[in-house]
Amino acid sequence: MRVQFNSAIGPYKGGTRFHQSVNESIMKFLAFEQIFKNSLTCLPMGGAKGGADFDPHGKSDNEIMRFCQNYILELYRHIGPRMDVPAGDVGVGAKEIGYLYGMYKRIENEFSGTFTSKGIESGGSLGRAEATGYGLCYFVEEMLKEFKNDDFKDKRVIVSGAGKVGSMAAEKAIQLGAKVVAISDISGVVHDENGIDVNLIKELSKTHNVVVDKYTLTHPDATFSPQTTDIWKIPCDIALPCATENEINLESAKELVKNGCFLVAEGANMPTTTEATKYFRTNNVLFGPGKASNAGGVAVSGLEMAQNATFQCWSFEEVDEKLHKIMKKIFRRSHEMAIRYAGRPDDLITGANIAGFMKVYQAMLQQGV
Ligand code: NAP
Repeated sequence: MRVQFNSAIGPYKGGTRFHQSVNESIMKFLAFEQIFKNSLTCLPMGGAKGGADFDPHGKSDNEIMRFCQNYILELYRHIGPRMDVPAGDVGVGAKEIGYLYGMYKRIENEFSGTFTSKGIESGGSLGRAEATGYGLCYFVEEMLKEFKNDDFKDKRVIVSGAGKVGSMAAEKAIQLGAKVVAISDISGVVHDENGIDVNLIKELSKTHNVVVDKYTLTHPDATFSPQTTDIWKIPCDIALPCATENEINLESAKELVKNGCFLVAEGANMPTTTEATKYFRTNNVLFGPGKASNAGGVAVSGLEMAQNATFQCWSFEEVDEKLHKIMKKIFRRSHEMAIRYAGRPDDLITGANIAGFMKVYQAMLQQGV
C-alpha cells in the first residue's frame, strides 16, 4: 500500500514499512505527518508513506527479495524521481531498498534514483544510515543550548530501539559526551551503568534480528529485562524513544519524570501518547516532537535525491555538515513559531506544526485550490 498525501512542495516522499501492524490508518497518519516534517527540512519534498503487513523477521533473503519484487510489480506505476520517491522505515533497510529499486530499474530501464536509503554502490548517500539518529542528537543539542545553556556532556541517556535510528542516536550521544545507560529492542531492555557498548549492538545487528538479549553474554555487569517498557523506569536526564509509536504512555511518562528526566526527544514517529506528551509539558519536561527532531533522515534522503539528479557523490563530512545545518534550522524555525504563536518558547510541538504547515499552505494557495 502507498498513501500519497500531498505534493504541493515537491514529489511525494516518505518511508516504506514492512511490519505486521501496517494498515491503511497507520499509513495515513504517518503520511500526514510526513508532509509537515518534509516541509520543515526546507527541501522540495511532498508527503507520503507506504508498506505492507509483511514481517521480514525469520524470512530468508530469497523470500524477502521475492516479496520486494512482487511489491514493485504494482507500485512501479505510481512512483518515479519526480512523482514519488519511497525510502526505508521499520523492517526496510538498505537490503530491502536494493531489491525494491532493482526490480523498479528492471521494469523502467532507467537509473533514476527513485528510492532513497539505497546502498552506497547503488547511488545511496554517505551519511544516510546515520542521519536520523545523528540529526536527533543535533536537535537535542540545540534544545539543551537554548533552554538550559547546557550540552550532552555527562548526561545520562536512555534509547529505546536498537535499530537504524536508535543505534545511531546512541552513537552520536556518546560522541557528544553523554553516557547511554540503556537500550532496548523487541526482546527487552539492557541496562549497563558502564555505558552501553554501541559497537557491539551494531556488530550483533549485522547477523541477528534481535540483539539486546545477547548483550549480557559479553557484558556480565549489565542487566537484562524482557519487559520493553522497563526502560522508562531507569533514571536518566534525557530519553530518546526511537522504536515505535505509542511506546511511552502516561504511566511511563510518570516514571520518567519521577526519576529526573528533563528532556524527551522523539526519534521514532509518534512514540509518545497524547496523555504522556501533556504530562511532560505540565511537568516542564523539554519535548522535541518527532516531526522536527527525527527529520534528519528524510533531509538526507533529499540530499540523496539531489546527488542522484546531478550525478554527484558527496563525502560523509559534507553530508553530515549539511544535516547539522538543517537540524539547527528546523530547531530555529520551530522555536520562532513557538514564540510567535504559542506564547511559550519551549512549545516546539506547536512551533513545528505551524512552521511545517505554513509552507505547504502557501504553496497550495499559489497553485489554486
Ligand atoms: P528499525 O531499524 O526496524 O528499528 C526499530 C527498532 O525498534 C528495532 O530494534 C526493534 O526491535 C525495536 N522495537 C520495535 N518495537 C519495539 C518495542 N515495542 N519496544 C522496544 N523496541 C522495539 O526501524 P527504524 O528505521 O530505526 O525506525 C524506528 C522508528 O523511527 C519508527 O517509528 C520509524 O517510523 C521512525 N523513523 C525512522 C527513520 C529512518 O530513517 N529509518 C526516519 C524517521 C523516523 P526488533 O528489531 O527486535 O523488532
